[in-house]
Amino acid sequence: MIRDGEPSFRESVDLMFNRAVRLMDLSPGLEQKIRVCNSTYTVRFGVRLRGKIETFTGYRSVHSEHMEPVKGGIRYALSVNQNEVEALAALMTYKCALVETPFGGSKGGLCIDPRAWEEHELELITRRFAYELIKRDLIHPAQNVPAPDMGTGEREMAWIADQYKRMNTTDINGNACVTGKPPHAGGIQGRVEATGRGVQYALQEFFRHPEDIAKAGLTGGLEGKRVIVQGLGNVGYHAAKFLSEEDGCKITAVIERDGALHSESGLDIEDIRQWMVKHGSIKGYPTAAFVDDGSTLIEAECDILIPAALEGVIHMGNAARIKAPLIVEAANGPVTFGADEILREKGVVIIPDMYANAGGVTVSYFEWVKNLSHIRFGRMQRRAEEARSRILVEELERLSADQGLGWTLSPDFKEKFLTGSDELALVRSGLDDTMRTAYQAMRKVWHERDDVDDLRTAAYLVSIGRVAQSYRSKGL
Ligand code: GLU
Repeated sequence: MIRDGEPSFRESVDLMFNRAVRLMDLSPGLEQKIRVCNSTYTVRFGVRLRGKIETFTGYRSVHSEHMEPVKGGIRYALSVNQNEVEALAALMTYKCALVETPFGGSKGGLCIDPRAWEEHELELITRRFAYELIKRDLIHPAQNVPAPDMGTGEREMAWIADQYKRMNTTDINGNACVTGKPPHAGGIQGRVEATGRGVQYALQEFFRHPEDIAKAGLTGGLEGKRVIVQGLGNVGYHAAKFLSEEDGCKITAVIERDGALHSESGLDIEDIRQWMVKHGSIKGYPTAAFVDDGSTLIEAECDILIPAALEGVIHMGNAARIKAPLIVEAANGPVTFGADEILREKGVVIIPDMYANAGGVTVSYFEWVKNLSHIRFGRMQRRAEEARSRILVEELERLSADQGLGWTLSPDFKEKFLTGSDELALVRSGLDDTMRTAYQAMRKVWHERDDVDDLRTAAYLVSIGRVAQSYRSKGL
């Protein structure tokens, strides 16, 4: 939704890009080349459903092909439009560059309310949409690789992969045409949790740097921090779950589209999620206060605010009232350009979307590589690593016994140590490493340049620099 005086989502992304690019010395031609969206394909197709023909509108936008394939999710929502898809595609370019996944940026969307259709109807619609995109190489393992986004998940990705393979029976790399597939159908362990897991790793990394914590006016670590999460979909749920169960954060509010739950002593996220799955809503959840107008809670007192749903939820109309000193953008574009300026002025630290939610595309990259290599992650190393780990464990236990030291290794430690080369463990450690490295690249610019006083501009500088470099070396 665009409010008075507020730029559209795509304009917002462009304005943020412009703010950063002013601090670089790119030639105007190259700057323009990077900013603009290369192409957007619009398709309108009919599907015979419930006795009549329904027409659907879908998009696939390619922002930058400085690296191929281009990558980005497919969103199913009634609000999908060209402006949004292009903004999201641009963010994919910068996101991929920041976390060094070798992809250009793309995004797709279908104007549909997925809850209005039965599963078999959604399958027909998805296959037909995929057919249109496959025909134009807008789904292709070497050219354009979609993934889940809002309103889509493993199920839709499995249909898309199957559709591609039916239409390209001799492509041995067919499985790599889309990521986010179920593990039993060519996917990878840990992809569903990946974006939320990445948000957790991003915060863990932030809290490893006392100077950064101080910039947000906070002290100490993650333990005991009061967190408000807006949107309890796949990303918000996993982020909130891991932060509360593993890092000792207190989730004091969750905001959903039909209301919010609030408890200063902390909410049980798993319990709320189970309630939502059963009842389709957080309404009626028995053990926390329910607030009808959830949007007011986004302005409530807390240490960390995590918008994890739609773009534009923090806008010029509410930015001045936001009390959180630290915002982590688990969603794409949750803070508008105007709101960003207001929040910067107030000294709020924002961990920007292109970094904070990059866990999804990072694990998508692992899945794509796994598909192309046709071998399970870690399968080659697993036995050798296990054997080495076992020798070490036995040696430690022998030493302790020989010298009467009384050391014992906890079963939990042994379990983790011996299974450290599982696909899931490898995915998580690869993701953690990616999030640490990208944060450090961004933070270096934030701290070292006098003309940069926010993490978003720092992130743009790092990614635009990388995209420019790749254009320069390959030629336009
Ligand atoms: N839709 C996710 C995003 O916005 C994931 C994209 C992908 O895995 O390619 O980053």
